[in-house]
Formats: sequence, C-alpha cells, structure tokens
Amino acid sequence: MEPIADATAATTEPLVIMGAGLVGSLLSLYLVRRGHPVHLYERLADPRRAGLLEGRSINLALSDRGWRGLAGVGVTDDIQKVGIPMYRRVMHDQQGQLTQQPYGQEGQAIFSVSRDSLNRTLLDLVEAKPEAQITFGQKLTQLDLPGRRLHLRDVASGQEYDVGYQRLFGVDGAFSAVRGAMQRLDRADYSQQYLEYGYKELTIVAGPGGAWQLEKNALHIWPRGNYLMIALPNLDGSFNATLFFPYEGPLSFESLRTPDEVEHFFADVFPDAAPLMPNLDTEFFAHPTGSLVTIRCWPWSYQDTVLLLGDAAHAIVPFYGQGMNAGFEDCTVLDRLLNEIGETDWTRVMDEFERLRKPNTDAMAELALYNFVEMRDRVADPRFLLQKRIESK
Ligand code: FAD
Repeated sequence: MEPIADATAATTEPLVIMGAGLVGSLLSLYLVRRGHPVHLYERLADPRRAGLLEGRSINLALSDRGWRGLAGVGVTDDIQKVGIPMYRRVMHDQQGQLTQQPYGQEGQAIFSVSRDSLNRTLLDLVEAKPEAQITFGQKLTQLDLPGRRLHLRDVASGQEYDVGYQRLFGVDGAFSAVRGAMQRLDRADYSQQYLEYGYKELTIVAGPGGAWQLEKNALHIWPRGNYLMIALPNLDGSFNATLFFPYEGPLSFESLRTPDEVEHFFADVFPDAAPLMPNLDTEFFAHPTGSLVTIRCWPWSYQDTVLLLGDAAHAIVPFYGQGMNAGFEDCTVLDRLLNEIGETDWTRVMDEFERLRKPNTDAMAELALYNFVEMRDRVADPRFLLQKRIESK
C-alpha cells in the first residue's frame, strides 16, 4: 500500500519520539513515510551493540492487529523471517497428557517472535531512513509541557541538556516519563494495579541438532489452577517458558528457596517439561522476577503538542498477548486519522485518537485480566471449552 502523505503538512522540524522500543520504532516508520523527519531518543544503549534486552519477556505473540500495523509500512516480510507460526495452543496436564485448541480456521496462526529480533529489525529499518535519527543512551528526566522543552541526561557522561520540540510522541513504556509530567496537570486521571503474581523467564532447551522437543508450531500451556507456565518456540529449537506464579504464599516465589526445592516442584507439577529444562535451578535464581501491571490514564494528549501511545498510554498484563499488538494498532489508527483529518488540525487528530483508542484498550485490559483466569484454570477444564485429546507424550 502506498503512503497517502500530506506533503503540504510535512515540516522540516523533526517530530520527537521518546522511546525507541517496539512501538516507538514502528511509529517513526509511519511518520517518516508521511514525509516527516523524526528524532528518537532512547534511554538504553543500542540493543544491536549492547546484547540482549534484560528483564523483559524474550518472545512475544504477534497477532493480526500487530501484523496490520507492520503491513501499513510494508515491513511484514522482514518480521516474518524472525517469526514462527503457532496454529494452536497445546495444554499439558500434570500427567503429561496433551489437549489442544486451534487459534482459528485452518491455516490461521499467531506468531512467536523474539522481542530482541523484532526490536533490532525495526531499528535497522528506522536507521535505513535518512529522515530518521536515533540517539541512544539519552534519558528524559523532566518535561516542560507549556514551554515544549525536554530535559535529557546523557546516561554515559551524566551530562544534562535541554531540547525544544514542536510535537512530541511519548512511547516510553509503562513507566513513561512523558506521562509522568502529564499526570501532574490538573484533572489528569491515573491508576496502576499490580497483580499479586510475578513472572520468571526460563528455557526449554533445543534437542540434538537444534530439534524442537515440544510441538514447534504451538503455544504450550501448563495450567495448574492458581498458577501456570507457558512456552513459545524460538527459531533455534529452544522454547522460552514463562512461569506466572504468586509472589507470596505457601506455593510461591517466596516459598521456593533452594535449587532442590525448585527441581522437586517442577518435576512434580510440570513432569514433561522439567527434563527439558537442564538450566532450571540456575535460571530460576539468576533471572529477575518481573511484575505484572495494568496502567490506565487520561487524557493521552496535551494540547496539540504531546501524544502518548503504546504502554505509556495503556499497559496491560500479558495474558491476552495484546500489549505490543495494541501499540502497533495505535500507529495504524493515528496514521488513518492523519489521512482523514489532515495534518493542519493536530488537536482534532489527537482528540479523535484518544476517543477512539481508550475504550478499545480499556476492553483489552479487562480481557487480559480475564484471560489470566482462563489460561491458568479454565483451559484445563473440559466443561468450559471443546478440547480434542491428542496423543499423550
Ligand atoms: P516498551 O517496549 O517498554 O518501550 C519503551 C522504550 O522507552 C524502552 O526502550 C525504554 O528504554 C524507553 N524509555 C523508557 N523511559 C525512558 C526515558 N525516561 N527516556 C528515554 N527513553 C525511555 N505483548 C504482545 O502483544 N504479545 C505478547 O505475547 C506479549 N507478551 C508479554 C509478556 C510479558 C511477560 C510482558 C511483561 C509483556 C508482554 N507483552 C506482550 C507486552 C509488550 O511487551 C508491551 O506492550 C510492549 O513492549 C510495549 O511497547 P512500547 O514500545 O510501548 O514500550
């Protein structure tokens, strides 16, 4: 699809994008395609030089709304190379019996993509555009909204400096500094709600010759009532497993204190997965326990100069696999509104954007919380969903 650029609206003043994460990178591709120069500032070092991103989920489920976001700037082929289609979810019960549910009609799938590969690929695509500049290692520490000035710190040298802007896009994630400044304004709504569950990333290793030791084209779930583990395939034959588990209580992160306790627990409750996790005891204690938060705020814009997108506007828990997908959809919707309304009336574009997106992302936040109960409990209950028993291992 060819861009519908409003050439008359394009300015030489770069649009400022705070955060070069998944949504910030995709948003810049959309804005460059519209004829705008963009300047991205990112707190972290360039992941392509600094190695893997620490402490975040290692792979993500990319679904239709995410693909549409990528298709809008013509980059689906680049991303398909780093993805694996998952046609169904496969549930593992405590005896190692497997059941499955398809994700859609024959041939329909969601995709497992590595966060790192996706981020690197999007950054490469952004950097290939002469109109785009990315400055890594720059942290937004203060924002003067009426004066339209960013206060940034160069993370390596500690040097602080100010930069002016005409238009700023806050895509700096769940703990957004841009949103932080907007929260201090009159009549700004904000809420954050943590689950009493955390998550831990673990590895199901590849078999001999890089073979997948579980069905490759599936999202695997071990539902266990009040907790669960999931696993998504990687291109190298391994799977990234994520344990969602209570922080405190008789069976919790707090209760598993030694490698022996961890190994016994996994052998008991995940008997088919445990033998495929030779690094379990090391990873369990070395990897951080991540928290799970839902963040809601309103408004998402300030005058016609600042707009929040992605997790900065709507962070949700991951059980519906839609956080990034929703952020990509934000980019599609903003682009459509810029086509429909034009770039001479940014106030209307921003008003319309938040009016359209807020009910959608609120619904996704609710569905994600609901799906936590479904995934850990109901997918294992044959009374709730039609399941097809497949060969046990
Ligand atoms: P981020 O990815 O957080 O990027 C924000 C960027 O801003 C970062 O690079 C950060 O360093 C930078 N930044 C932050 N503060 C500053 C500052 N002060 N100055 C400068 N830069 C700053 N979503 C899905 O769609 N599918 C899934 O399967 C899925 N699984 C998930 C599993 C887990 C365990 C978790 C925690 C999340 C999952 N998500 C999933 C959600 C997904 O990770 C997020 O929705 C997505 O990363 C949001 O992208 P973003 O660009 O808005 O924010």
